[in-house]
Amino acid sequence: MPADSTWLVAVDRTVCLGTGVCASVFPQHFVITEGKSRPRAGESLPHEELLDAVDLCPMGAITVTDRATGTAVVPDD
Ligand code: SF4
Repeated sequence: MPADSTWLVAVDRTVCLGTGVCASVFPQHFVITEGKSRPRAGESLPHEELLDAVDLCPMGAITVTDRATGTAVVPDD
């Protein structure tokens, strides 16, 4: 990933179960409000933690997209 990339971080609150896994492991990136997770910032410099959060979410609710290309960084299937 280019060092100057900007990632768009989103949580689909319609499927988030509010487990708090993302916010517990990566509180710098996620916070629970009204029983659901949301990203602390809609945009972020690339962080490995964001990729890990996508992997850890049991609902697949977190997406990370490259702002410049509009392609998904994860999930990438
Ligand atoms: S890990 Fe997934 S389901 Fe759990 S709070 Fe975070 S976004 Fe929601």
